[in-house]
Amino acid sequence: MQIPTTMKAMVFHEAHKPLVLSTVPVPTPSPRQVLVKIIACGVCRTDLHIMDGELDRPKPSLIPGHEIVGTVVGTGKEVTALHPGDQVGIPWLGYTCGYCKFCLRGQENLCDNAGFTGYTLDGGFAEYTVADQHYCLPLSSPQAAPGGAPLLCAGLIGYRSYNMIPKDAENIGIYGFGAAAHILIQVARHRSQNIFAFTRDGDLESQTFARKLGATWAGDSSDPPPQLIDASILFAPAGDLVPTALRSTVKGGTVVCGGIHMSDIPSFPYSLLWEERIVRSVANLTRKDGLEFLKLAGEVPVRTEITEFSVEQANEALEALRNGRIHGAAVLVMR
Ligand SMILES: [Zn+2]
Ligand SMILES: [Zn+2]
Repeated sequence: MQIPTTMKAMVFHEAHKPLVLSTVPVPTPSPRQVLVKIIACGVCRTDLHIMDGELDRPKPSLIPGHEIVGTVVGTGKEVTALHPGDQVGIPWLGYTCGYCKFCLRGQENLCDNAGFTGYTLDGGFAEYTVADQHYCLPLSSPQAAPGGAPLLCAGLIGYRSYNMIPKDAENIGIYGFGAAAHILIQVARHRSQNIFAFTRDGDLESQTFARKLGATWAGDSSDPPPQLIDASILFAPAGDLVPTALRSTVKGGTVVCGGIHMSDIPSFPYSLLWEERIVRSVANLTRKDGLEFLKLAGEVPVRTEITEFSVEQANEALEALRNGRIHGAAVLVMR
């Protein structure tokens, strides 16, 4: 295959400014990297947090995007794990050191020296990207398509959050019914668990969408659910949902914050936390999460609902996500 020397990319230069459509060199893989021709890349709320300056120190002249599906078209000279033609997913976790205390404990998601795709490493809002061979996830043929892109972050982070709640939870609350929730509900229903979906107040469309995907109940975040819930996962980045969720949680129940950024959590009475309720966050992912989840997604099977945009329309896709106009996930498709 003839690889061009330049490609289209959407580049982030400065917070609060749109991404800039640019022509940049096609990257050259280092010895342990592969060159991937991108099929599609999902758009995630984390991209908005970067654009809004809420995550500090992004790579200068960053190409965002960390839900990449594509095809290997070139390999560095030390690459043995992948070959041209392999279909891979490239997730948020792009590199770990392997020697810090977190890596040695099996918590590579907390690595002190980690690299993150579309944040500290260039990502997928482009026609090509490079990635370390050991941080690419193998995809099945159905997953190597635009519909597979949201599995790479929304799916994976949703899955890691889901793993933080007790396996025997019968009734699970999800706050923020976007890309992650629409995937996770399929996994939970597959395991016969009940989902209570909380949306922005008055967002009847998302509530209908949640019911269509099998939610037992769907309503406004400020409304109490019809019964207490065993565990909740917060995908909406609103800190005031933490006490709200605790108020609806059974004794010993868990509230998991699944986002990378959240507005401040207001003070709340200790009685909401008392009786061994737990509030915790989830950070990043491990490669083990990735392998487990992609296998599970194939078994369920998870079907994503996506709205397609071209790479040039990345800013429009981000604004649509910001304004809650996307049901399911927004995906940039390379043509
Ligand atoms: Zn993400
Ligand atoms: Zn490390």
